Parts: sequence; structure tokens; C-alpha cells
Amino acid sequence: MKVDFANLNYQYELYKDEIDAAIQEVLDSSQYIMGPQIGEMEKKLADFTGAGHCISCASGTDALQLALMALEVGPGDEVITTPFTFIATGEMVAHLGAKPVFTDIDELTYNIDPGLIESVITPRTRAIMPVSLFGQPADMNEINAVASDYGLPVIEDAAQSFGAIYRGEKSCNLSHVGCTSFFPAKPLGCYGDGGAVFTSDDALAEKLRSLRVHGQTQRYRHARAGICSRMDTIQAAVLLVKLKHYPRELEKRRRVAELYSEQLGNAVITPQIRDDRDSVWAQYSIGVCGRDAVCEGMRKAGIPTSVHYPMPLHLQECFEYLGHGKGDFPVAEAVSKDIMSLPMNPFLGEEEIELVSNSLLRILG
Ligand SMILES: *Cc1c(COP(=O)(O)O)cnc(C)c1O
Repeated sequence: MKVDFANLNYQYELYKDEIDAAIQEVLDSSQYIMGPQIGEMEKKLADFTGAGHCISCASGTDALQLALMALEVGPGDEVITTPFTFIATGEMVAHLGAKPVFTDIDELTYNIDPGLIESVITPRTRAIMPVSLFGQPADMNEINAVASDYGLPVIEDAAQSFGAIYRGEKSCNLSHVGCTSFFPAKPLGCYGDGGAVFTSDDALAEKLRSLRVHGQTQRYRHARAGICSRMDTIQAAVLLVKLKHYPRELEKRRRVAELYSEQLGNAVITPQIRDDRDSVWAQYSIGVCGRDAVCEGMRKAGIPTSVHYPMPLHLQECFEYLGHGKGDFPVAEAVSKDIMSLPMNPFLGEEEIELVSNSLLRILG
């Protein structure tokens, strides 16, 4: 029995007929850029999240960049975010000449600690950007409340949480702006790079649509300098097929997580999901002592694992200029030492889940 980490291949085989037909339709139409599937997909994604608008783009990273650009974040500005995330979150802030201001995470959920945000707000703060990590929404109500006290917009980095529910509302529609990614290994992935920005602010949506095509307002008229970040029509066609199957896949992911948590019990730190929300299980990440040795043991047992993330952003070389050091965000640093992700995909069978759990329990002795 070979356990696959994300099992994208199996997923393709499962939907092959539908996906091949959808791609062929785009090839036959020759509308490779902004074909009709783009608008159809944006409508379906917006409806799925409940947000007023979906603006698709070329990647999750671009979605963050577009959201920051639309909110006119630039040199001299500060954006508050978490140090425990994928690089893109802090990177796009820096890319626009603004300063990423990190604040520590909650030790149970690994999401930004909302109680720490107010203390790092300054007159230069322009936005708050929480990440809904591993598929679980951040504490959006608390974050929105602080933001509204200071008149700041909140951008949810929902690259890992598309479809997650928080107090009855969907991720991507939990704040002023939400950004997601359709990178193949995300819970809802396409077959290349892709992303989307969600908002119910009509004016902001119009600006985002213009920014993704060179700041264009009508053909060859440019109101502002934008970027070139359209999603390919072929990717939209793939997403339209996958979206149909997504609710059922989410059920299966939830079941996999449930079984892992049951089987692992107290032997490791299992993921903690708060009562008022759920997770789409972008990762099933656990905390263990001696993480690197445990990962090596799993590798020898033929079971793939991964580490999200071994180094928090404030200790990355690219952010050295911010002047942070070890100890600045102790929770993020401690978590990054112990965290590891187990295989997670909707197609894991009960035997495979048991094999992963038992191998892990054996390695932990
Ligand atoms: C994947 C990811 C991104 C970037 O998405 P891409 O589509 O790979 O550009 C941004 N933020 C987080 C938290 C992510 O996991």
C-alpha cells in the first residue's frame, strides 16, 4: 500500500472525462484569454462564498498583490500580518514597498493572535492581513472589530481556506477583501497557477478588475498602472468541473481529519478547530517532539510528510532588514520547530489512514 500526500493523479482519473471535455471545449473555441468560462466561474465562486464579487487572477500571490494595490498600500505604509505563513503573505507587502509588521500567533490554532494586533497599530498602518492557516478561518470577528476601531481594511489570506465556514459565513467573505489560491495542491486547485480576490465593495471590485489588466478601464485606456494577471480560460474550465465535486471532497477531508485525530489521540498535538468554525483541511498538521527524526522515520516507512513551515517569516533572509531576531515571536518559533503535516486528501482510505497513524505511533514509541 502506497500512501500519496495529495493524490492529484487519482483525482484527475476520477473526473477525467469531464475535465478532458472541458479543456477540449476551450481549445476548440480558441478563447484562451478571458473566454466565457472565466465569467461563469467567477459567478459560481462568488455565489459559493456569498461575496458580491469574484475577480479571478493568475495566482494566490497575485490576488494578495491586487488586493493591496486596490487598497493603495505603498511605500511608508505598514500591514499587520502573521509570521507563521507561506512567504507570499509578507512578500507582497514588501514587494509594494510597504512594511510587513508581524505579530505572534495563537498556540492552539496557529492563526494570528487577535489580542496582540492593537499594540502594533501605528499611524502608518494601512491594513490587517490575517491568514486562515491550514484551512481554519482566523478569529475574523475579533480582527474586524479592532480594524473597525481604527478604520482599517482587513484582507483575509484565504489561500488555504476556500470553502471553510466561520459562524455561518464562508471564508473569502469574512472581511472587506478575501484572497484565495487555486494552486494544484490547495483544497480547490486548478492545473496550473490561479487565484481570486473576493469583495462585496462594488468600487473596489471595479478597481481590482482594472488592476488585473494593466489598469485598463476601456480598451487602451489606462486609469492607473496595473499588472497583467488574468487566469487562463483553461484553468477556469478545470475549476468549473472541480467545483461541482468540491462539497463532497470537503466532507471526505473532514472524515480523514476526524479519523487521524481519533487514532492519534494524545500522542501528538492534534489540530485544534474552534467550535464556531470548521476547516477545509488544506493540511493536517500535528506537533511532535523531535520533528525532523519523526519525519525521517516516516520517510523510511514509505509515508510522505511535509513541514508547513520550518521557518517563520521574521527569521527569513529576505526580511533581515526588518531587524528581527530569535525570540521576537516565541509562539511562531516554537510551533515551527514541532510542526509536521501528514498526507491529506479526500481519497485516503481507512486502511491508509490507519497505516499513517500506526507508523507514527510506532515511531513515537
Ligand atoms: C499558497 C499560498 C499563497 C500563494 O498562492 P499561490 O497561488 O501559490 O501564489 C499565499 N498565501 C498562503 C497562506 C498560501 O498558502
